[in-house]
Amino acid sequence: MPSRYVWWKWLVIFCVSLLSSCSTTPQVSTSSGEQLPIKPIRFLLTFDDGPSGATHKNPTQKILNTLADNQFQENIKAIFFVQTRAHHGGGTDTGQRLLRRLNTEGHLLAFHTATKHHDNHCFLKPEELESSLWVGIEDLITISGNAPRLVRPPFWSYNASTLSSYNRHGLQMLLTDLSANDGKIHGVNWSWRKRSNLLNQLRRVKSELASGSIPEVDGHIPVVVTFHDVNSYTARNMAVYIQILLEVARELHLPIAEKPFYDDRTQLEKAALARTVHSMHGQQYIPGFWGWLWGLRLNSI
Ligand SMILES: [Zn+2]
Repeated sequence: MPSRYVWWKWLVIFCVSLLSSCSTTPQVSTSSGEQLPIKPIRFLLTFDDGPSGATHKNPTQKILNTLADNQFQENIKAIFFVQTRAHHGGGTDTGQRLLRRLNTEGHLLAFHTATKHHDNHCFLKPEELESSLWVGIEDLITISGNAPRLVRPPFWSYNASTLSSYNRHGLQMLLTDLSANDGKIHGVNWSWRKRSNLLNQLRRVKSELASGSIPEVDGHIPVVVTFHDVNSYTARNMAVYIQILLEVARELHLPIAEKPFYDDRTQLEKAALARTVHSMHGQQYIPGFWGWLWGLRLNSI
């Protein structure tokens, strides 16, 4: 017969484990102070404007190496919104090689441009946009064997007409939750505000989580983050950015998935498709300067 002491011991262990399981249930506060349980977030990394055509210290190449091998999570997979015919990037031999490498290493290729320059889709003539969509989709089919399903508009600029063109070509538009605001900067480039910038944007995402406006996919909340793989500063600091994302999520007490970053192309695409925007209804977050500019333009119409 177990002694009374043993029974008490088991009772205490049971109560403690019950309490600890309650305290680890992720919750987020609404504006009214109500605590809502939320699923763990998972960072969905995206890169715009690449690949780089640089033959020396290629930033796209460096980013691929860091995603594959870093101290936080190995073999991270990302979505690359590429410019297949850019004169300084995808249109060069180096760029074409990198497009093939992106696909071979399990990343997801998506449409950004198929013109020589980083053209605003809203400013192209309708027939120019149509032709660039045909060309870009064919380029990506040649590389991966699959038609792309995702598009990100250059300068985050879109309207009802460009959205309808995307839809006719089977493309869905993905914007972003967080942006490193890194862009393509020639010459000296750096960012003093890497951490505070991502912290402030993730704080906004936390309030959106409380309102339930971000869907859950396979048990996680995909949080879309945007970088530019043509930016040499971003390339040099990719591991730092990965660390900052984890740190700011912890600082905001957001639960993080066991694998904080996507590492499977199929799951990555499924999560991204769940976050796409299909109409002009509703206010979408546009990061940095472009949010201010397009907001200004919309307000002036
Ligand atoms: Zn771009």
